[in-house]
Amino acid sequence: MAFIPYSRQTIGEDDIRAVTKVLRSPFITQGPAIKEFESAIARYCGARYAVAFSNGTTALHAAYAAAGVGKGDEVVMPALTFAATGNAALYLGAKPVFADSDAETGNVDVRAVEKKITRRTKAIVGVDYAGAPADLTALRALARKQKLVFIEDGAQSLGARYKGRPVGMQADMTMFSFHPVKSITTGEGGVIVTNNKKYFELLMMFRTHGMTKDPKKLRDKKKAAWHQEMHVLGNNYRLTDIQAALGVSQMKKLDRFVAQRRAAAERYFSLLKTLPIALPQRSTLKSSAWHLFVVRVDPRTRDRVFTQLRGKGIGVQVHYLPVYLHPYYRSLGYKKGLCPRAETFAAGCISIPLFPNITPKEQAFVVRALTAILASKSL
Ligand SMILES: *Cc1c(COP(=O)(O)O)cnc(C)c1O
Repeated sequence: MAFIPYSRQTIGEDDIRAVTKVLRSPFITQGPAIKEFESAIARYCGARYAVAFSNGTTALHAAYAAAGVGKGDEVVMPALTFAATGNAALYLGAKPVFADSDAETGNVDVRAVEKKITRRTKAIVGVDYAGAPADLTALRALARKQKLVFIEDGAQSLGARYKGRPVGMQADMTMFSFHPVKSITTGEGGVIVTNNKKYFELLMMFRTHGMTKDPKKLRDKKKAAWHQEMHVLGNNYRLTDIQAALGVSQMKKLDRFVAQRRAAAERYFSLLKTLPIALPQRSTLKSSAWHLFVVRVDPRTRDRVFTQLRGKGIGVQVHYLPVYLHPYYRSLGYKKGLCPRAETFAAGCISIPLFPNITPKEQAFVVRALTAILASKSL
């Protein structure tokens, strides 16, 4: 059996045609494919606006900035997430404040978030761990009550559903990532969806150096037609039309990709049910985007199980080391023991291969390997 990655993109001839079409057109960046892609995402989520970015991390940076996060502010977020969720606060001179997770789902515990709110808190961030929506209603209610901005890091959950509706309508701003392992890909890419016009305008400015050409916004009204002004310190965080064209083509297949991931997850549930491991929440079968299939083994054996699976050509991963345990965060003063449930969850977890085109044969191979490793006396 050839190497099986934990995730990978699904690219078809239709995607390749869409990209080459842009390459033959007048615009390969700042052209019409961007708007087309943004409209497709906004329509899918039922959101008023979508702003595309060069990747999910730059999109988060822009969203935190649009929320008004700045020097000395605090942003409350789950500990069990990718480092980028925290880094986006650091870029703005703000402090990431980590909240513990639910012991079973890996998603953030809303009561833990509430306890971390102080007078300095500006925003709370929810992460849809492994593609399963966080408790968005409770997070939103908490943000409203405390007059905070609610940002959703939905990097893993495009195509997921929450109370029967697509993820992307529940937070003030929601980010999706288009890295090759995510629901759809543009190579690198990200987006923020929002219903708020003020955030939309700030995001658009932040993406292009903090500049505007909008005559209604210019502070100096008498200038010539070439005039544009920089109002905030933005950056060049734009997606190219080459990538956006791939995104438009991929969006047409999003629901199919998620359905394929779900079918593969369902297959794992039945193949793995007798093994001495903790499985994801089966109740999320229909709602999750199934970005990852995370199993948990005894933390004392996890690294050996992991190494042996890799040795058999199975591309397992660990999602995640709690953010504050990274050496960089430790150098900022964060300490082990801050979020004990996230630490325990992280210590036992292994993401096994899951992507739209994984075959039943590949899944059976993974399960056979895992079964043999767990049964071996040398473990
Ligand atoms: C992938 C991911 C990101 C970063 O997205 P990029 O597009 O890779 O920059 C941020 N947060 C989470 C939870 C992710 O999974």
